[in-house]
Amino acid sequence: MNHIFQRHCHASLPVAARGEGVYIFDQMGKSYLDASGGAAVSCLGHSHPAVKAALHEQIDQLAYAHTGFFTTEAAQNLADKLVASAPGKLEHVYFVSGGSEAVESALKLARQYFVEKGETQRSRFISRKQSYHGNTLGALSVGGNALRREPFSPLLMPVEHISACFAYHGQQASETAFEYGQRMANELEERLLEVGPETVIAFIAEPVVGATAGAVVAEEGYFKRIREICDKYGVLLILDEVMCGMGRTGTLFAHEQEGIEADMVTIAKGLGAGYQPIGAMMASAEIHNTISNGSGFFQHGHTYMGHATAVAGSLAVLNAIDQDALLPRVRVAGDLLQAKLEKRFENHAFIGDIRGRGLFRAIEIMADKEKKIPFAASTKLHTKIKAQAMELGLMCYPMPGTVDGQEGHHVLLAPPFIISDDQLDELTDKLYFSIDAITHKHYKESV
Ligand code: PLP
Repeated sequence: MNHIFQRHCHASLPVAARGEGVYIFDQMGKSYLDASGGAAVSCLGHSHPAVKAALHEQIDQLAYAHTGFFTTEAAQNLADKLVASAPGKLEHVYFVSGGSEAVESALKLARQYFVEKGETQRSRFISRKQSYHGNTLGALSVGGNALRREPFSPLLMPVEHISACFAYHGQQASETAFEYGQRMANELEERLLEVGPETVIAFIAEPVVGATAGAVVAEEGYFKRIREICDKYGVLLILDEVMCGMGRTGTLFAHEQEGIEADMVTIAKGLGAGYQPIGAMMASAEIHNTISNGSGFFQHGHTYMGHATAVAGSLAVLNAIDQDALLPRVRVAGDLLQAKLEKRFENHAFIGDIRGRGLFRAIEIMADKEKKIPFAASTKLHTKIKAQAMELGLMCYPMPGTVDGQEGHHVLLAPPFIISDDQLDELTDKLYFSIDAITHKHYKESV
C-alpha cells in the first residue's frame, strides 16, 4: 500500500531514480525527456554541476538559519543579483519557498502598503479570467480558472476578474491585434470605475499566461495601457512571473519585453530550477520605504523563508544562466521549437494554435479548428495525452479548460534551456505521436 497522499489518489506513477541533462530516469532505467520542466521548473535540466556544487558547499557550511535571527551571504548576494537584473525600480526581495507563497506575500504587502499610507479603504484586487496565481486561498482568489476555484468558492475572498488578453479566442474580425489589446486593457479602467478606483489595491496578471491558458502572450501595447490605467488611479501593478519569469521567455524577467515597470513581481519555479524549493516577491523602493518609514515591519513571514541552501542554489542557477549564455539560447531554441512544431503539425486536423515566447510554448487542440470548437471536456484529452506521452518517454504538461476554465485542451511545453536541437526533434516527434493517437481516438465523441 502506498502511504503517500498523491495528487491523484489512483495514479500509478513510475519511481524517479536519477536525472541527467534533460532526462529523468525511472527505477527500471526508462528515460523521459523533460519537455515541460516538470511545471516550467527545471530550466537547467537535472544535473547541473555548478548548482549541485553550490548546494553541497552551502550544506557543508550551514544548511539553515532562521531569518528572524540571521541573514546569510547567499541571500544577500542573490537579492543583489536579482535587483541588478530587474527592470525599473524593484529594489527589495522577499524570499519564500514557492510561487503561492510569493503571491500571498505580494497581496498582503500591497494591502499593508496602503494601510501604512492611510488609504485603508483600499481592500480589493482585480485580476483576469483564465489566470493562475497559486493554490493557497489568497492566490486562488485572485486566480481566474473556474475549474481550480470551483470547490473552494465559498472560502475565497471577493475579487474582480476582467477578461484575459487572449487573441486566439477573443479578437474580433473587425479589429486589429492592437485594437483588441487596447479593448481588453480598457476593461480594467471600466471595472475600476464600476467598483470605485479608490477601493482597489492592485491589479495582478501573468505577463505570459502559463498553466491555465497555455503560453498566452498579450498583444502589443496591452501592458503599457494597463500600466497607464494603474498609474492614473494609484493602483499597484503586480506581475506574476512565477512561471514565465527567470529566463523562460528569453529575458530574465518576462515583462522586460512589454516595456513596462511593475510595483511588485513574483518569481519561483525557474529561480530554483528544481534544485531547492524557493520563491520570491520583489517590491519597489517606494513600497519598501513606506513600510520601513512606517511600522518598520511587514506583518508576514514563514519559517523556511530565505532558506540558506535554497538561496545558495538559486544564486548558482542565475550565475549559470549568465555564464552559459542561456538567455540568447532560449530565444534561438524557442523560435526553433515553434518552427519545428508548426512544420510537424502543419497538416494535423486537430491543432488550432501553436504559440508562446522563448522556451514557453503551447499547442491548443480543437475538434474543429475552422470553427474553433474544442473537444468535449468529457474526453479528458489532457490525462490521456499525458499518459500516452509518458509511455513514449516524454514529459509534457497538458491541461483542460483552455477556453473558459471548462472547455478546451492545450499542451504546455517548457523544456530546459540546455535542450539541444536534436532533443527538440525528439520532443516534437514524441509529442506528435502522443497528440495524434489520442485526438483521433476521441474525435467521434466530440462531433
Ligand atoms: N503563479 C503562477 C503564474 C503559477 O504558474 C504558479 C504555479 O504553477 C503559481 C503562482 C503557484 O506556484 P507554486 O505551485 O509554487 O505554489
